[in-house]
Amino acid sequence: QSTLKSSGKDPYPDWKPGEPVPYAALCTTFSLIEMTTKRLIISAHCSLFLRQVLRLTPQDLLPTVQLMINKLAADYAGIELGIGESLIMKAIGESTGRSLQIIKADQNEIGDLGLVAAKSRSNQPTMFKPKPLTVRGVLEGLMGIATVSGDGSQGRKIAGIKKLLSAADAAHAGKGSRGIDITKDKGGASEAKFIIRFLEGKLRLGLAEKTVLVGLAHAMVIHETEQESNKLPSTEKLAEGEAILKTVYSELPSYEVIIPAMIEHGIFHLREKCRLQPGVPLKPMLAKPTKSITEVLDRFEGKNFTCEYKYDGERAQIHYVAEDSQQQYPSSLLKGKEAKGLSAIFSRNSEDLSKKYPDILAKLNTWIKSETKSFVLDCETVAWDLVEKKVLPFQQLMTRKRKDVKAEDVTVKVCVFAFDMLFYNGESIVQKSLRERRELLREAFSEVEGEFSFAQYGNTSDLEEIQTLLDESVKASCEGLMVKMLDTDESGYEPSKRSRNWLKVKKDYLSGIGDSLDLVVLGAYYGKGKRTSVYGAFLLACYNSSNETYETVCNIGTGFSEAILEDLHTKLKDHTIDRPKPFYSHSTVPKDQPDVWFEPRFVWEVKTADLTISPRYKAGADALSDGSGKGISLRFPRFIKEREDKKADEATGSRMVVEMYQKQEGVGKNKGPSVDDDF
Ligand code: ATP
Repeated sequence: QSTLKSSGKDPYPDWKPGEPVPYAALCTTFSLIEMTTKRLIISAHCSLFLRQVLRLTPQDLLPTVQLMINKLAADYAGIELGIGESLIMKAIGESTGRSLQIIKADQNEIGDLGLVAAKSRSNQPTMFKPKPLTVRGVLEGLMGIATVSGDGSQGRKIAGIKKLLSAADAAHAGKGSRGIDITKDKGGASEAKFIIRFLEGKLRLGLAEKTVLVGLAHAMVIHETEQESNKLPSTEKLAEGEAILKTVYSELPSYEVIIPAMIEHGIFHLREKCRLQPGVPLKPMLAKPTKSITEVLDRFEGKNFTCEYKYDGERAQIHYVAEDSQQQYPSSLLKGKEAKGLSAIFSRNSEDLSKKYPDILAKLNTWIKSETKSFVLDCETVAWDLVEKKVLPFQQLMTRKRKDVKAEDVTVKVCVFAFDMLFYNGESIVQKSLRERRELLREAFSEVEGEFSFAQYGNTSDLEEIQTLLDESVKASCEGLMVKMLDTDESGYEPSKRSRNWLKVKKDYLSGIGDSLDLVVLGAYYGKGKRTSVYGAFLLACYNSSNETYETVCNIGTGFSEAILEDLHTKLKDHTIDRPKPFYSHSTVPKDQPDVWFEPRFVWEVKTADLTISPRYKAGADALSDGSGKGISLRFPRFIKEREDKKADEATGSRMVVEMYQKQEGVGKNKGPSVDDDF
């Protein structure tokens, strides 16, 4: 499958060995990928191209992969894409000599700025032939656009986009109007189209990041085998390479570190060269929701497991290297300077929170035992009542400033509840059992009341005892329990995975659907009565990662205070767009349309009574595959809180919504119509 047959002709005559990868070559591959929905073909195109890069210009492998996954750098670098529509439209207009009015009219008709750019560019007569774009040049240009800040940054962003666009599609320049028929060929391999989509943050090729990872592993194995023996590798070899790269990437999610190491040492030596390291945050292990303690007992029957309190705060990954161990790590990412070492705190999605929690970093040394030289800790930061000496509700934590906090100004104190350790004294320990990791955690730290505690737990498989633990956890202001496999290989730490070896039991959701949902705000309706100056209700969606669309799942107008509605209005109003994005899957019936649409940016946690089928929404419509086009929707949805720690594509997945729907008791019977509060 990784060996698409070549036609015999050199597909990229302009690409000479050792020379920068032409961007046009990558765009040709993008358009081939765009033309199919077959996962194996997509993966084969991807690996074929990466093999070519390895053969001709291996030094461009990193920028090529970055352009393929639509990311300029690893998540922890905090480089945001998602440039607003109005800015992009201005840049397209200015660079192609078309008025903003025409660009807007085109966008109204086509609904895809990438295609608008392709069309504008193809109709533009060019006086001189620009220098063709290269992959590394485009990446550099995009990086400049994404990172410019401060005074006049808007203008400089527009200038950056214009520069790229005027060099785009050089091969066709000077040939007069190609008049791309957008409806026929989706803009083909137009460089302008892919540049704009990259800036918007979605290439929409159906090329998932996981597919690129697999494509990269295959390309590497084939390339190495060809070089050694001029033969193709066996399927087992391909699978082995794939498994290695997947494991390494889950522990060290940074192509910037992995790709150069892989080129230097080969994929089969990657595990020894690239292990989890302080300074590079990994995606945390996640839990599956459950609806009852008996469901937990069924799952873990015959196994040793443990029930930990589920603290309600913010997930944090603390990285630390002592001063005398720093030379072992390229720890430039560890910024907090302790007396005895370097440290950093990262969020659940790898955002650097060091500036939010300087108070934690300042105290770190007092919790560490003297033999502790380096660690990566998985924990929850929770607001702490210094007087009553107890956990405070999550809402208190939210009142803390997010940036540039000074340790001495902190009013909401936090206590760190540690529940796992992934790296200890120079060694990755994710493969050890939870029991062993827990022992090491206790060896490495000492508790300090109100500052640092180990998560409370009980090791029991008795239903009554678990029920008591659950009640006690709720009395201690926790959300419920996290039940985890304790021994054997099933209890290893599985980075970035929602695993069946961790189950969450949330008190509030028992006998309901088991969990709340985190949904993306796509649209809003103006309020009525007292709420006329703000939005009174909203259209929410879940995320379907297999086709990169946001699928509508409910309207919501309950759970908001007046103050919250005002705050949400202030935040959202700057992110309105004139029409839904082409990757929104929603009802097209006129009465279902919201008054305004938004860029997909904001994620909210929402509680629901249950899930039902509705013709008005699209969540999981494909997976239900009853051909009706109906989706799943939330009944009696209620707003709980904003999820600032989640990006839009980390919202609850459509598959999870379908799973929750199907696990409901009585599915198949009529659950009554979907109820949209306030409608
Ligand atoms: P998800 O993506 O699973 O919905 P979430 O961030 O919305 O994650 P929850 O579903 O509420 O969170 O549950 C998992 C979260 O609970 C963890 O991400 C972590 O922040 C928190 N947590 C609190 N106590 C523990 C614990 N003892 N072990 C693991 N996680 C814990």
